[in-house]
Amino acid sequence: MGSYFAVEGFKAQESGGSLMSEWEHLIPRPTSRFLRVRCITCESEQIIFSHASTTVECLTCGEKLAEPTGGKAKINGAIVAVLG
Ligand SMILES: [Zn+2]
Repeated sequence: MGSYFAVEGFKAQESGGSLMSEWEHLIPRPTSRFLRVRCITCESEQIIFSHASTTVECLTCGEKLAEPTGGKAKINGAIVAVLG
């Protein structure tokens, strides 16, 4: 008769398993990246942080390459590569 209780215990473990998948939503995933951006005016390339909090200007011609928005920066050039 002891086997009946063993089955009940197994069911309880199964229902606990669904809690594990809910935890995955709570793990923060970093979305910030460094971007290699090509200036649309002079075509020189520059590395810009995707969440830049200050305006980033082209080192060559002074064109605005990125503007802060509070989150992800607005990129005004062409993103040619995304780095780690
Ligand atoms: Zn430029």
